[in-house]
Amino acid sequence: MANRDPTAFLVEEYEEICKKDFDWKLRNLEGPSQPRAKVDGKEVLMFCSNNYLGLSKHPKMKEAAIKATEKYGVGSGSVRPIAGNLDLHIELEEKVAKFKGVESALVYMSGFATNQGLLAQLAGKGDIIISDELNHGSIIDGVRLTKADKAIYKHNDVGDLEKVLKEADKKYKKILVCTDGVFSMDGDISPLDKILPLAQEFGAMVYVDDAHGEGVLGRDYSGKGIVEHYGLEGKIHIEMGTFSKAFGVVGGYASGVKSLRNYALNKSRSWLLSGTHNAGTTAACIAAIEVLETEPHHVKNLWDNTKYFKKELQSLGFDIGDSYTPITPAMCGESSKAKALSNRLWELGVFALPIVFPMVARDKARIRNMIMANMTKDDLNDALAAYEKAGKELKII
Ligand code: PMP
Repeated sequence: MANRDPTAFLVEEYEEICKKDFDWKLRNLEGPSQPRAKVDGKEVLMFCSNNYLGLSKHPKMKEAAIKATEKYGVGSGSVRPIAGNLDLHIELEEKVAKFKGVESALVYMSGFATNQGLLAQLAGKGDIIISDELNHGSIIDGVRLTKADKAIYKHNDVGDLEKVLKEADKKYKKILVCTDGVFSMDGDISPLDKILPLAQEFGAMVYVDDAHGEGVLGRDYSGKGIVEHYGLEGKIHIEMGTFSKAFGVVGGYASGVKSLRNYALNKSRSWLLSGTHNAGTTAACIAAIEVLETEPHHVKNLWDNTKYFKKELQSLGFDIGDSYTPITPAMCGESSKAKALSNRLWELGVFALPIVFPMVARDKARIRNMIMANMTKDDLNDALAAYEKAGKELKII
């Protein structure tokens, strides 16, 4: 069929996406990701950054990145198993393991690469992976890459998980239960304290994604994440995380027992076959952990701001969903309402993104507000004033 246009689908499918108004309209960040940020030439209040603690421009982290770049240059020249394994990578892995209170950690290029590359190797034919229905897309992709059977349990429903485990118990060699620690659309958290004993009863492995928990949850504002939040240190088999959110840099890691690191670095293709973090990024990640260990006020400020914003947004009349964390939804119902609210907020100087179907159920569209530690009362109040105005105009409140 020489007359077939081999790239026609690119246009056709993109047009379909546009027709449904699902296409991403990218905005340009023209400076640091901070509470008052320059986006598309306009100063706006930033309410959709994952830079929870404002660390992405922390002076100690910038300095660490600059110094390391001066010493090592901007690339490591190879994948890690060949010749790109920097002493800084090892230092970072030791730091992560100590921070998480486990034996070892392995750093990947991103959280996505961690989930995709590691989950894909943890189970195979004759095994089963049991996954929360609202787990992150990188978990879904990792699970899809395995030859294991897959089962979904209802979101955070331990009773349903038990049912699935009972069915799986006799049929499979290995059982892996996988959950997000904090669910990024609603800000609710996984009942790990109930999932773990249940998994133990069935001899199942537990894998938790702490992307939105680290730097946020933990005892006494430690930011150590969901596992410490529940006092389960050393008990969860596999914990993964990202440096791209509260840590303010980029990258991912998996942590757990020593044998996990040995296994993962010999089996994960996303680790074996992908370039490495350069020295600057690695040094900035090391410095981020040091900042968390020595400056607990960032996490405290994040929670103070979160409590204030949630209380005030709710008292304006917004339904803020059922979040436990700084992720603060403003529920709108239909997608068109959430989009209209986001557009109006933008006009009023607030950058806050709508989350709509198919990312969430059709009637659960919302604006997802991401709170930052370094927002001032003025920042929060200015955003709340915009919410009040836009919410009333659009009859959401
Ligand atoms: N897991 C969850 C729950 C996430 O929200 C994200 C980021 N969107 C990731 C994994 C991927 O992390 P990264 O940005 O480091 O690839």
